[in-house]
Amino acid sequence: VGLAIESSGPVVVEDAMSHPRYKYFPETGEERYHTFLAVPVAEGRQKPIGVLVVQTLRRRKVSKEEIRLLRTAASQVAQILSHYQLRETLATKEKERDEYRRRMIEANRQLKGYEKVGGATRVASPLKIRRPRLVGLAAAPGFARGVAHVVGTFLSSIDRNLRARDAKAETRRLEEALTRSLGELAALKIRMEPLMPPAELKIFDGHRQILEDEEFVGRIRQAIDSGYAAESSLFRVIDELSAQMLAVADGYLRERATDFRDVGHRVLRHLRQEDKKSAFAKATILVAEELTLSQMTLVSHENLVGIALQSGGVTSHAAILARAFEIPTVVGVEHLMEAVLEGDALVLDGNSGIVYVNPSAEVEREYQILMKRYDAFRKELLVGLDQPTVTRDGHRVLMLANIALPADVELALRYGAEGIGLLRSEFSFLTYEDFPDENQQLTLYNRILDAAGDRPVTIRTLDIGADKYPPYLRVPREDNPFLGWRSIRISLELASIFKVQLRAILRAAARHDVKIMFPMISSIEELRRARELLAEAQAELFKEGLDHNPNIEVGIMVEVPSAVWLAPRLIEEVDFFSIGTNDLIQYLLAADRNNPRVAHLYESLHPAVLGAIAEVVGVARGAGKQVCICGEMASDPLATLLLLGMGLDQLSLSPLFIPVVRKIIRESNFETARRIANDILQMGSVQEIKGYLIERYRDLGLIHMLEMYR
Ligand code: PEP
Ligand code: MG
Repeated sequence: VGLAIESSGPVVVEDAMSHPRYKYFPETGEERYHTFLAVPVAEGRQKPIGVLVVQTLRRRKVSKEEIRLLRTAASQVAQILSHYQLRETLATKEKERDEYRRRMIEANRQLKGYEKVGGATRVASPLKIRRPRLVGLAAAPGFARGVAHVVGTFLSSIDRNLRARDAKAETRRLEEALTRSLGELAALKIRMEPLMPPAELKIFDGHRQILEDEEFVGRIRQAIDSGYAAESSLFRVIDELSAQMLAVADGYLRERATDFRDVGHRVLRHLRQEDKKSAFAKATILVAEELTLSQMTLVSHENLVGIALQSGGVTSHAAILARAFEIPTVVGVEHLMEAVLEGDALVLDGNSGIVYVNPSAEVEREYQILMKRYDAFRKELLVGLDQPTVTRDGHRVLMLANIALPADVELALRYGAEGIGLLRSEFSFLTYEDFPDENQQLTLYNRILDAAGDRPVTIRTLDIGADKYPPYLRVPREDNPFLGWRSIRISLELASIFKVQLRAILRAAARHDVKIMFPMISSIEELRRARELLAEAQAELFKEGLDHNPNIEVGIMVEVPSAVWLAPRLIEEVDFFSIGTNDLIQYLLAADRNNPRVAHLYESLHPAVLGAIAEVVGVARGAGKQVCICGEMASDPLATLLLLGMGLDQLSLSPLFIPVVRKIIRESNFETARRIANDILQMGSVQEIKGYLIERYRDLGLIHMLEMYR
């Protein structure tokens, strides 16, 4: 329908669901219809004011005559509509004018005698309706309703020149806000203790130190003494300090600037007694440009029900964390920060990637129904999670989880994971103040392994760089960080730091079923160098008489196109492959995984992507080695049948998606999936592939599995 408006011409699609721009709304029940004909409703050459759509149950060709007929009808409709529109506009205009006059008279009456306050007065323009529907990318499933809490605009919205007469009273307000902030930090730390690794909890200490810093607080007091209100004084000091820090091209100081601002927001909230008013007092949806690590602490708030971010992609690390916290999230929402104001009512759909601002009663109603259906659907999926994942014809698939932090293991097991297929070790590293030493790492890994019990765990070595730098690693700015100094490239250069990690993993593997995996391998040399360092680490441990696993299984992520080409050679030197589609897709299709503007080009069902996956699976199978897929594609229910049919018998995915993917596998036949995959691998376009897949889900009675996520 949108396409008809954009192109100002008719849109004819023989099978609507297979069109890349197709968007499914379960409440319309339109899955029964196939052929789709839409013509814009417009008067002459003017902009369309609507679209007339005809759909048929049967798939059929649409004749030119039929298109002409519908266009004629549309032009008649356009005339009638624009006539009514005109009448309505006139009526509203009149009403608005009356209202405006009424307000002006009222305002003037109130201003009488107050002219010295300053001539003109602003009268708010008559009620503007603000009900935008913002489209982004679905990053963590589920629905949420709540009030918007906009992070990031707070400090900047303060008037820095606000003056106050009573400096003593302002200082008192400041002291109270500082005390309350300190109390809140202490309470937060206690609440987060079971959820975060000790190193991560340091963030609270860092913030506490800022609040207790004599120089920092002294400067705010000084500003108050020179006549500014407490809010303005706080803002001035934070603004100055963070500007100084940001002026230095140093990752660590930049991160500190963020900490200062976060602390500033906290104090400000208490100065304004925001908690009593809105933020987090009731169900709240966090709205931000992006989510910083320290804002993660907000994520645990019990009243936080949803997250909407203007930046980022589905595989961005903020999104991965949101999924770990089970908070419905939409990312890459254009115009989010302009469209949403603090306190706006929001409905957030983390399954389709939509945010409704101040939704109408009708939208609210629809979403109530959807939320109920989704809850029922989830309940149904969670039944029997302890049984193995086997197709109807007896083909077994291993369901593993991708995790970031130790607390995620519990989540993974709750959703039926049979092991951890990808531990993104760098996430924990991001929370330390320096590279954690061998013992710190050993403790960290043991914590994860203990939680996983006897289930296998694949630890991926550091994959820092690109969009995740630890604050203590000084890196110059790069123009193309995803093509730059990241991942295994950093590890191989900082060999001594890398070896500390290898030693810790080898030691952790002494008592548990642990595999080691190198990320972003793009050549044989890189793999050999990494293995050399691993062998050195082993030799050292042996010499030192420290317990470790000398026969640890070693694998690589296949996520760079060159590794696909080199797969037959790489497989000879490893025990397993794990396909990282998140990066593989962005490198194969030259589409940044975090850039919403090219999100439509970032397509997992692209024939080139599928060809690469098939190649890698074939190579591993041929060599009798294991192959897994651990990119977000493994979480996409529409891809499940295809991946199953392509012979992937290990999937590693976000825990939240394990139940639905598992259910699809349990209700399918491996042989059928194989045939489907073979057919698809012959196809040349995304559109054809998607259409064909949707058809098959329908034939197999599995279409309802997609409804909630598409
Ligand atoms: C991938 O690239 O597919 C992957 C699993 O790793 P990450 O998302 O951490 O880059
Ligand atoms: Mg990757």
